[in-house]
Amino acid sequence: MTDCVFCRIAAGEMEPQMILETESVLAFHDLNPVAPQHALVIPRRHIATLDDTVPEDREVLGDLMLAGAEVARKLDLENEGYRTVMNCGHGAGQSVYHIHLHVLGGRNFSWPPG
Ligand code: AMP
Ligand code: ZN
Repeated sequence: MTDCVFCRIAAGEMEPQMILETESVLAFHDLNPVAPQHALVIPRRHIATLDDTVPEDREVLGDLMLAGAEVARKLDLENEGYRTVMNCGHGAGQSVYHIHLHVLGGRNFSWPPG
């Protein structure tokens, strides 16, 4: 059994509140939301960080972004706007080492980010 929590979700061993499932990616509500709407989009396949991606990953990276936009529409965020974030490495605050796109909405977001 893997100790990667998102691989366990992808394997169906844990059941988050699912929003979207495709052949290559899954989207679900974050367990500890930091905004009124906070979803995560993950690839089914384990990739630890954005820094580990290679040109062969371009399709799955595109799928993540497209699914992020679809999730935002499903959560009715497309008109007010939303923030997508992928943290890479400890300096950026990455805590789960299986890449994931955060989709955040339902409040205003400042720039630059904290
Ligand atoms: P990051 O800090 O960018 O690596 O984001 C990891 C995110 O995963 C955090 O927002 C956590 O709240 C979230 N998270 C961790 N475990 C789970 C889980 N089992 N289900 C849903 N979200 C999770
Ligand atoms: Zn994983």
